[in-house]
Amino acid sequence: MPESQRLFFALSLPAGIQRQLVSWRAQAFAEHTGRPVAGANLHMTLAFLGDVSPAKQQVFMDLAGRIRQPRFTLRLDDAGHWPRPGVVWLGTRQPPRGLLQLADLLRAQAARNGCHQSPMPFHPHITLYRQATQPVALPPPGFCWTAEACEFTLFASEFSRGRTRYQALHRWPLL
Ligand code: ATP
Ligand code: MG
Repeated sequence: MPESQRLFFALSLPAGIQRQLVSWRAQAFAEHTGRPVAGANLHMTLAFLGDVSPAKQQVFMDLAGRIRQPRFTLRLDDAGHWPRPGVVWLGTRQPPRGLLQLADLLRAQAARNGCHQSPMPFHPHITLYRQATQPVALPPPGFCWTAEACEFTLFASEFSRGRTRYQALHRWPLL
């Protein structure tokens, strides 16, 4: 029987921004901040689905293919530290309406199709470091990264040989 995969919808970063962010991160944070997320894995999760069977995956693909949402500009101008999960993140002070609508839609579809959604409000962010459990010196405010979000992606997450890898299964354009 085909196996379930661990799935999530996310925005990925253009390769250029990804590279720049990685070098900015190395300068903006102390060396021992935590375990830096690999550049290729930097993303903004929109909806986490968890383990999904191939049949259910097709349902999500069909639903995603019917989404008609406008593209938007992401202004990454906020950073923070959540000590309990040990996450240092990059976020946005004013999430654009298009981002919130897209995430709401995907999260509602996930919930309707049996994927438990956290009751916590959606806090759009890109995880920069994991295992950051000690106090973290954040970069001073004033920085701002911008990226156009023109598409969203369904990713499969696989953990093997000590590493988490994401595989982009399908991308859909924003209008
Ligand atoms: P790892 O857990 O192996 O360190 P990871 O967290 O990047 O790596 P996954 O756990 O597969 O890999 O998660 C994929 C994405 O979904 C990440 O952005 C993660 O933060 C998010 N995510 C994982 N679990 C949940 C959850 N229960 N609720 C919301 N988002 C989640
Ligand atoms: Mg995880």
